[in-house]
Amino acid sequence: TFEIISKHGDHEQVVFCNDPHVGLKAIIAIHNTSLGPALGGTRMWNYKNEDEALVDVLRLSKGMTYKAAASGLNLGGGKAVIIGDPKTQKSEGLFRAFGQFVNSLNGKYITAEDVGTSVQDMEHIYMETPWVTGIPKDFGGSGDPSPYTAHGVLMGIKASAKEKFGTDSLKGIHIAVQGLGNVGSNLVKYLVEEGAVITVADIDMNRTKSVADKFGAKAVSSDDILFTECDILAPCALGAIVNDQTITKLKTKVIAGGANNVLAEARHGDQLKELGILYAPDYVINAGGLMNVFVELEGYSPERAFEKTKRVYDNILKVYEIAKRDGIGTHTAADRLAEERINTIGRLKQRH
Ligand code: NAD
Repeated sequence: TFEIISKHGDHEQVVFCNDPHVGLKAIIAIHNTSLGPALGGTRMWNYKNEDEALVDVLRLSKGMTYKAAASGLNLGGGKAVIIGDPKTQKSEGLFRAFGQFVNSLNGKYITAEDVGTSVQDMEHIYMETPWVTGIPKDFGGSGDPSPYTAHGVLMGIKASAKEKFGTDSLKGIHIAVQGLGNVGSNLVKYLVEEGAVITVADIDMNRTKSVADKFGAKAVSSDDILFTECDILAPCALGAIVNDQTITKLKTKVIAGGANNVLAEARHGDQLKELGILYAPDYVINAGGLMNVFVELEGYSPERAFEKTKRVYDNILKVYEIAKRDGIGTHTAADRLAEERINTIGRLKQRH
């Protein structure tokens, strides 16, 4: 186990949670707390085996350290996984038992929703520990993060337009949005307000049609959206859309959207640089949801959360500065921004 841990990063602590009475098998990974408590969601997934779950939680928790650090938040990176089928194996007891394990860490790890967990599950965790965000609004929580994620993405798109086209006005700029779920549909609404020209697609054709009709956007098929000739491509569906098959067929000048893991591999980021396509790194541009739960820790206010998502604009510009300074791809520059902040500010904090 220690071998697997050291292969996937220099994690501070990994906690195995076991409660056979409620069928709980979970792993909490705390990657780094130099900037603050480790925040990251709890994923419930039918992992093939325990090693697969361990690798996933190690990888995801490290990602959260970078996301929080590059976003200027005083948070570290953590994540949890519950091994089990989210469709059949959930119960109040399971999440309350898990909540007790979270509580035992005394705030060093703060949890939230993720794939396979819901607001209802967070409510059950909250019955055992205060160290949970994304709880329902009637409990003082922040509710659905996607409008905040989408607003952060809008800010990142504007910063990218500034970098590439010299102005952050989106008036008349052609933006292709892939995926019209929680993030994508909110983003389209904001883009319309900015006067952008929009093309949209979802694999759900009814959704594509209803969003296109509502906002006066052009609808295309989900096979064509990535290859639409446009100024900015905003991926808001699944990951790995920039891969060996797609990369040379892209007809955009900028990629800036809400989806996670946009690059199939890091080398595709280098290739985008060579092709002259500006890439807004996923974990920096889609941090609005994380900013929203961060505000929940301070005592939630929707207005302040909305204000905070405006920081994405400066964060993205900082990434572009580092990329130019060091002559590297923007995906590498994002990691460098995070590491520089952990090293300087993290060290300062240790003095106290
Ligand atoms: P969602 O499930 O609500 O929406 C995704 C949409 O994409 C669905 O409508 C789906 O039909 C569509 N889709 C899937 N494959 C497609 C394809 N090939 N072409 C076109 N459309 C396709 O999810 P969401 O919450 O809107 O999240 C979207 C992305 O943003 C994900 O990658 C997610 O990890 C990321 N993200 C979301 C948040 C958030 O606050 N919700 C925060 C950070 C990152």
